[in-house]
Amino acid sequence: MEINGYTRICGVMGNPVEHTMSPAIHNTLAEATGENLVYVPFHVPTGHVKEAVEGAFALNVLGCNVTIPYKSEVIPYLKEIDGLAEKIGAVNTLVRLEDGFKGYNTDMPGLYRAMCEDGVELAGEEVIILGAGGVARAVAMLLAEKKTKHIIVMNRTPQKAEQIAAEVNRLTGTDLVEAMALADYTKLSEDRNYLCIQATNVGMFPKTEEAVMEEESFYRRIHTGYDLIYNPIETRFMKLVKQSGGRAFNGLKMLLWQGVIAYELWTGKEIGKEQADLAYVSMKKAMGIVE
Ligand code: NAP
Repeated sequence: MEINGYTRICGVMGNPVEHTMSPAIHNTLAEATGENLVYVPFHVPTGHVKEAVEGAFALNVLGCNVTIPYKSEVIPYLKEIDGLAEKIGAVNTLVRLEDGFKGYNTDMPGLYRAMCEDGVELAGEEVIILGAGGVARAVAMLLAEKKTKHIIVMNRTPQKAEQIAAEVNRLTGTDLVEAMALADYTKLSEDRNYLCIQATNVGMFPKTEEAVMEEESFYRRIHTGYDLIYNPIETRFMKLVKQSGGRAFNGLKMLLWQGVIAYELWTGKEIGKEQADLAYVSMKKAMGIVE
């Protein structure tokens, strides 16, 4: 594309930010939609988030993604925050308004969109979330809003799972979420009843031979395993789900769709399946994934 006086800038703020796949997604979408827009990484040093947000606005930046470790830290510097992002307590997308940025969370809508694409139902489902970190909390919030029947948060540190259950139940006015220690999995129904979302970082590159749960009798209860990890593309968790007769997915499509939804917010353009597929191919190429 030709960069000229009308070119708009978007980017991603983070630290570190050098390994981001987002430029591949957004620059492909800009080309596919004919938008005069470039997307670049912004390495923001510790302690400079306020200046980064204000500086980006002053420089007429159209929009920004926010990644580790700033997803919560940016919130005080926003003009507005979307309701879902506020409940989740994490913002990964800044959208330019007249007088500042509005913060959104596209990670959870991205996960939902990815699950729809993969044919994974949520309504009426019994769901296990493995992990009780920032992402697990957001997933519990998403699931509570998508009419799931029951949500069990299982974590190595049970107190953290209990905190999530109490908080999500309070925020959603439900009693859908229950906490359980990993070791108590035998209390689960023995039927193949569960969708299991893997939201710990166990099994992530380079420790690809690890899974947070090893017991075959746990995996026999799972009909669908959804790992949020995307490197490696097949985790040990996914292998164990498949070995026990379930189907399994990785977090690549979540990564794609969080980006597509941010792009739609910035440009007001709706991204079709063909354009999203192009971005998916670029993203996988940037990651060195050959299929
Ligand atoms: P986090 O806040 O650091 O939470 C990590 C979780 O993993 C905690 O529940 C922790 O348990 C558990 N854990 C870590 N090591 C463990 C071990 N050895 N045994 C048992 N449990 C262990 O992380 P996060 O920000 O929520 O991210 C979680 C995952 O989501 C990451 O793998 C990340 O790659 C993935 N993610 C994917 C996308 C995407 O687009 N696909 C986007 C965002 C995040 P304790 O509480 O007991 O310490």
